[in-house]
Amino acid sequence: MCVLNSITRAFVKSNIFFILAGMTTVDSLYRPCRLCPRRCGAGRTISPGGKSAVPAGSGYCGESAALRLACASIHRGEEPPLTGGAGGGGSGTIFVSGCNLGCVFCQNWQISAGLSANRQKRAWQISAGSLIARRKCALQISAGLAARQMPAGRPVLTEEFARICLALQSRGAENINIVTGSHAVPALAAGIAAARAGISGGPAADRLRVPVLWNSSAYELPETLDLLSDTVDVFLPDMKTLDGDISGRYCGAPDYPAAAKEAVRKMMVMRSLRFEKAPGGGPDRMVSGVMIRHLVLPGHTEATRTVLRWFADHCAGRALLSLMFQYTPLGPGPQGSITRAEAGRVLGWLEEFGIDDGYCQEPVSGTTGWLPDFEKTNPFPSELSVPVWHWRDGFA
Ligand code: SF4
Repeated sequence: MCVLNSITRAFVKSNIFFILAGMTTVDSLYRPCRLCPRRCGAGRTISPGGKSAVPAGSGYCGESAALRLACASIHRGEEPPLTGGAGGGGSGTIFVSGCNLGCVFCQNWQISAGLSANRQKRAWQISAGSLIARRKCALQISAGLAARQMPAGRPVLTEEFARICLALQSRGAENINIVTGSHAVPALAAGIAAARAGISGGPAADRLRVPVLWNSSAYELPETLDLLSDTVDVFLPDMKTLDGDISGRYCGAPDYPAAAKEAVRKMMVMRSLRFEKAPGGGPDRMVSGVMIRHLVLPGHTEATRTVLRWFADHCAGRALLSLMFQYTPLGPGPQGSITRAEAGRVLGWLEEFGIDDGYCQEPVSGTTGWLPDFEKTNPFPSELSVPVWHWRDGFA
C-alpha cells in the first residue's frame, strides 16, 4: 500500500447502504467484522445517516463501517504502466483513511494510524510474546480507543465516492488507484460498482471506464478479496517480508507472511497479466494482473533475499515485481536509509534469481522532501501530484 515517490526504471525490459440493493448483507460484513486476518469480530457501527459523528470501530483498525477518505489526486510517481509515463495521464489515486496493518514506519501515518503510538507499543509487545505483555497491551489498546485521534479523513457516501472516481477520470487519469482499502472492502466494492454504473441522473456517458487498481498491504483474506472480483482489474500488493519476527515487531502481525502469501496467490488466480498499447504512444498500460511491491528495509536485506527467492519460485511470469528503496525512518522502525552497498546486493540477487520483469526504484537516501503531508490540499510535491479532492477542502 505504498505510493512511489521517486523515479522508477525498468531493470530489464455506506454509504453503500444508500445505493445498493441488499444493504443488509453488506452491513452484516462489518458486524462482526472478520474482513482481514486479524478477525477481530468487532461490531463496526455507523451513525444514523452515515454522517459526521461516526463512532470509532472497536477493532484493531479502529474504523467504523463508514468509508472514510483522505484525498484523491492525479499521481505521477507510480510505475510507468500505471501512469502512462511522461506523456500519460497519471494514476488516479484515492487514499482511504485507516489501516488494518499499521506498520510503525508508515509514511502515510497521518491518515493510516491515528492510534499510532498505541500500535507501536502493541507491535513491540506482540513480538515480545509474553502473556503479561499481551495483557498490558490489551489495556493500553482499550485506553487508546477511549481517547484516540482518528486518522485524518472524512466519511463519504457511495455517490460521493463515485463522483471522485469520475472526477479523476475526467482529468485524464489512466486508472483509479485505491490505496489501503483492506478494512473497507465492502464499501469500496459498492463505490466502484456505482462509479461503473454512472451517477443517478447524470449523463449516461459519465461512467467509470478506466481500470481499477487495488493498492494494498496484502494483509488480506482470500474470501474478502472475492468481494472485489467484479470490480478490481489490477492488484498492487506489498510483500513486506516473509519473516514473522520482522512483521511482528514492526507491524504487530507475526502472521503476515502466511497471510500475504495466500492473498497474493489468490490475486494471481483472480487476474492474469494483460497490457494494452497506449493510443498516443508511451509505455503499454497495465490493464489486468498483479504487480508485487517490496520495500527494502535497511539492515534487513537478507529478508529481502527471501522475498525475491519466493517471487522467483512462485510468481515469475505470473506477476511483475517492483522493488522500492525509498525507506525513510519514521518512528521506531529500522533506522537509517538503504545504503548503496545494500542496494547493490539486492540488485545482484535479481540476477541470481533470474528476475528480469519489473521495476526498480533509484535509491533516495537522505532526502525527505517527497514525504507526504496529508494536512495539505496537495500532500505530495507538485511535480508528482495534482490534487482533485481533499477531506477538508472537497473538490479542488
Ligand atoms: S478490518 Fe478492522 S475490525 Fe475488521 S478484522 Fe480487520 S482490523 Fe479487525
